[in-house]
Amino acid sequence: MPKLLVVDDEPGIRRLLEEVFRDDRYQVVAAASGKEALAKWKEWEPDLVLLDMKMPGMDGLEVLRRMAGKYSRVPVIIMTAYGELRIVDEALNLGARGYVTKPFDVLELRNTVDRLLAE
Ligand SMILES: [Mg+2]
Repeated sequence: MPKLLVVDDEPGIRRLLEEVFRDDRYQVVAAASGKEALAKWKEWEPDLVLLDMKMPGMDGLEVLRRMAGKYSRVPVIIMTAYGELRIVDEALNLGARGYVTKPFDVLELRNTVDRLLAE
């Protein structure tokens, strides 16, 4: 089963994504901060990461910067607010493979995840 790491500082988003993906087809682990994300990324070695960009303390871009290189084979989908084009650009330059804007369509996100995992 593919392992998904869900990173978001908002409990509601983490819960939503856990509900969407935690079924017979995926294993899901959630992290509430950039720091927690780095730890779980290294320990648990996910197959795909869903990464919030706006978080207090270490934000999503900083997480990407630190994980680029060594873990660059792991596809990352970033989650960002509408209109944050500069952040999307920078994240894609750092190796992110896709992005969704909040509020995102759950079905579309599932399709994106499945497509990246199939590659
Ligand atoms: Mg956030």
